[in-house]
Amino acid sequence: MTVGDWRKTFKQLKVRPAKLKKYMKHNAPKKRTCGRTTKRCESCGRFDGMISKYGLGLCRICFREMAPKIGFKKYS
Ligand SMILES: [Zn+2]
Repeated sequence: MTVGDWRKTFKQLKVRPAKLKKYMKHNAPKKRTCGRTTKRCESCGRFDGMISKYGLGLCRICFREMAPKIGFKKYS
């Protein structure tokens, strides 16, 4: 299981709210204060290749697409 899809485990338990509550109590991941999972791309939700310089909060792929619109210029 990867970082982002822990919610997928609740699919079967949605019909049983009491069991879902118990499952959430014991199996929900703890809130992170540091590490790569704290930063997430604002447009696609990716964890990898984050660019937080200039307060962008985008991954490298989204930045590549949005860069000309924001005003970045490619020199090479
Ligand atoms: Zn992205």
